[in-house]
Amino acid sequence: MAEILRGDVIAAEIESELRGRIAQLAGRGVTPGLAVVLVGDDPASHVYVSRKQRAAARVGIVSVEHRLPGDTAQAELLALIAALNADPAIHGILVQLPLPPQIAADEVLDAIVPAKDVDGFHPVNVGRLSTGAGSGLVPCTPLGCMILLEKVVPDFRGLDAVVIGKSNIVGKPLALLLLERECTVTVTHIRTRGLPEIARRADILVAAAGSAGLVRGDWVKPGAVVIDVGINRIAGEDGKSRIVGDVAADECGHAGVLTPVPGGVGPMTIACLLRNTVDAAVRSAG
Ligand code: NAD
Repeated sequence: MAEILRGDVIAAEIESELRGRIAQLAGRGVTPGLAVVLVGDDPASHVYVSRKQRAAARVGIVSVEHRLPGDTAQAELLALIAALNADPAIHGILVQLPLPPQIAADEVLDAIVPAKDVDGFHPVNVGRLSTGAGSGLVPCTPLGCMILLEKVVPDFRGLDAVVIGKSNIVGKPLALLLLERECTVTVTHIRTRGLPEIARRADILVAAAGSAGLVRGDWVKPGAVVIDVGINRIAGEDGKSRIVGDVAADECGHAGVLTPVPGGVGPMTIACLLRNTVDAAVRSAG
C-alpha cells in the first residue's frame, strides 16, 4: 500500500518550530503581525480566513482582521493596503481572494509591499521565484507541497515531475520550485493532449486541477510520489457533502506515497502562511 503522507502532522511540527522562533523574536521586542483583509460575504472565504486566524493565534502571531463590505470601492481597499504597508506592527498582509468584480485583484496585490506579501503573489516575489533568487516570499500552497516532498524524496535531481494545473497560485510556482531542484518538469492543463500517458511518466505527480477523482489509478506509475492539491466538495452517498481531492486515492495503492484529502496539502498551506509571516517579521527586525 502507498505510504500516506500526512500534511496535518507535518503542519503541527512546523507550528511548533514557529512557536520557538516567535519566542526568540519576543526577546527582541517583536511580535509577528498578520493583517487579513476580507472583502464581501463569500462563505468559503470566511471559512478559510477563520482557519488562518485560528492557526495564527495557536503560534502567537497577532492577526488583525479587516472585513469590508462587498460593495467596497477599489480606492478604499488600496487606502487600507497603504496604511497596512506603513504599519510597523504588521509584517504580513493577506488579501483573501476572490475579490468582488468592481476590484481589480492584480492592482490590489501589486499594491502590497513585497516584504509583507506573505501570499507570494506580488510580481517582485514571482520574479524572484522565477530567477531562483531565494530571497522572496514563496506562495503558501506550492511551498507546502515542496516541504511535503522533501520528507519523502531524498534527491530531486533528474526526476520526472508532472504538475496538473497551471494556475498562478499553485501550478506555475510549484513547477518553478521543482525546476529549481533540477526535476524535469512538465506542466499540464485542461488543453493538454494525452494527459494520462504524460502523468504515467511522473516520478512526482502533483494534481492541482480542481476536478474530483481526475487522476485515475492507471495514470500513476508504480512507486510514484503523488501530491493531491485538489479540494472538491461532492455529494456523498448519505446525502451529506464531503471533500475529496483530484486523485482517485482508492485506485492508487501502487503509488509510493500519497497525500490524503483532507489532511494533506490544506494544513500545509496554512502552516506556510504562518511561516512566511514569521520570516517577514524576522527580516523586518533585521
Ligand atoms: P484554477 O482553477 O485556478 O486552475 C486549475 C488548473 O487546472 C487550470 O490550469 C486548468 O487548466 C487545469 N485543469 C482543470 N481541469 C483540468 C482537467 N480536467 N485536466 C487537466 N487540467 C485541468 O485552480 P487553483 O486555484 O490552481 O486550484 C486547483 C485546485 O487546488 C482546486 O481544487 C483548489 O480548491 C485546490 N487548492 C487547494 C489548496 C490547498 O491548500 N490544499 C490551495 C489552493 C488551491
